[in-house]
Amino acid sequence: MPIATVNPATGETLETFEPLDRDAVELALAKAADAFRTYRATGFEERAELLRRAAGLLDTEREQIARTVTTEMGKPLAQARAEAAKCAKALRWYADHGAALIADEHPNDLDVADSGAALAYVRYRPLGAVLAVMPWNFPLWQVVRFLAPALMAGNVALLKHASNVPRTALALADLFRRAGAAPGCFQALLVGSDTVPQLIRDPRVAAVTLTGSEGAGRAVGAAAGAALKKSVLELGGSDPFLVLPSADLTAAVSTAVRARIQNNGQSCIAAKRFIVHQDVYPRFAAAFAEAMRALRVGDPMEPSTDLGPLATRQGRDELASLVADALAHGATAETGGAHAALPSAGWYYPPTVLTRVTAAMRVYREETFGPVAALYRVRDLDEAIELANATPYGLSSNVWTTDPGERDQCLRELEAGGIFFNGMTASHPALPFGGVKHSGYGRELAGHGIREFCNVTTVWLG
Ligand code: NAP
Repeated sequence: MPIATVNPATGETLETFEPLDRDAVELALAKAADAFRTYRATGFEERAELLRRAAGLLDTEREQIARTVTTEMGKPLAQARAEAAKCAKALRWYADHGAALIADEHPNDLDVADSGAALAYVRYRPLGAVLAVMPWNFPLWQVVRFLAPALMAGNVALLKHASNVPRTALALADLFRRAGAAPGCFQALLVGSDTVPQLIRDPRVAAVTLTGSEGAGRAVGAAAGAALKKSVLELGGSDPFLVLPSADLTAAVSTAVRARIQNNGQSCIAAKRFIVHQDVYPRFAAAFAEAMRALRVGDPMEPSTDLGPLATRQGRDELASLVADALAHGATAETGGAHAALPSAGWYYPPTVLTRVTAAMRVYREETFGPVAALYRVRDLDEAIELANATPYGLSSNVWTTDPGERDQCLRELEAGGIFFNGMTASHPALPFGGVKHSGYGRELAGHGIREFCNVTTVWLG
């Protein structure tokens, strides 16, 4: 994939970038190794101040960076502004709480008395340079949710961002430089994905984190395994959204629409499969299809736009082929399902609701990375959970019920890294984020995220 800024609203190529050559990559790795030797000796307060200054710059330059994001990947401008604001919040959260999350841990003296120690404790030490391979869909947030805890823990960072968001990658690196990050502490490497295995193998790279597709996860996980390096994988999702008879249907419908179309439908934690109890199905289905039909599709820079273009032509074509496969196998498009009445340039796809979806169709198992919802009618909660678990993914899930018994059953049986009751899945700095099954392994955010890239060191004094 060429490294280029291509406006998805028009299809116009605005700028192309030469990938770094071998010497430039070598220089970056050497700088990262040098930077780590100094940076690991800094105190928590110094690191926290760096994160706070970066947060301040993100706040004051929000409009500019949001426009860069929208230009490169097409999300509505208001959502790009909100993403930048969320990044500033996460930076401040780790600045405020990071030190406590990885403070020395002292086990009860009685527990370790027979180890012969006069004193024993656990120290969370940094690992070194962490390579982050990141996607374009939240091009600020995906980076910051890895970077804030990594820097707070004393690691340094190398970013290989998606090839279609180079301006955003460079803007972030520049912002941290101006915030006072020492040279080599955080570098954006404009390289293709073919350079990633070489980076993972390099002894100056200590660990790798990837947010992206299942295929990229397998490649990065295999390379990390071969090099015996720690990895965290945040991969795809096909989150279920269960609606049970006790649900507040009005709230469930409006949340379902937002959960499906956030970020133009290109979110790993978007609700993608809507599994509705037969008692409320007719009302839910009618209101949901109507609300999806009413969405305004158009220029993401326009404040009135609900849904912009998909980020890439390839993504739009893949989504169209998933829908075509479903329709060819007997699904019904209650709304959408074709390219009609959309802007002629750019990679738009209409909001689409599919019913009569069966296991013979690809949408039953695969992730729909765009504004396409699959709607299912079920007899009871048992059938709902069986269907919810019938994909290779296990990122998050949403359940609408006020019944404590139903809630307990979901907590026992849903295969997902998150269960959000009566609301939509959203990440928050204080809550761990990640999945099971083919959605990956490891966790980001909260204390779990900052400890992923630490050397959990046992200190024993005789
Ligand atoms: P992608 O193609 O996997 O790309 C993500 C990143 O991985 C990019 O930097 C890409 O580089 C790189 N990459 C791709 N193939 C690679 C390989 N074989 N080896 C090493 N690096 C490789 O993903 P996408 O289509 O851009 O993003 C959408 C996917 O990400 C969806 O499946 C979505 O659910 C998932 N996602 C997951 C989360 C989560 O937190 N779980 C969050 C957001 C998105 P190039 O751009 O140069 O190809």
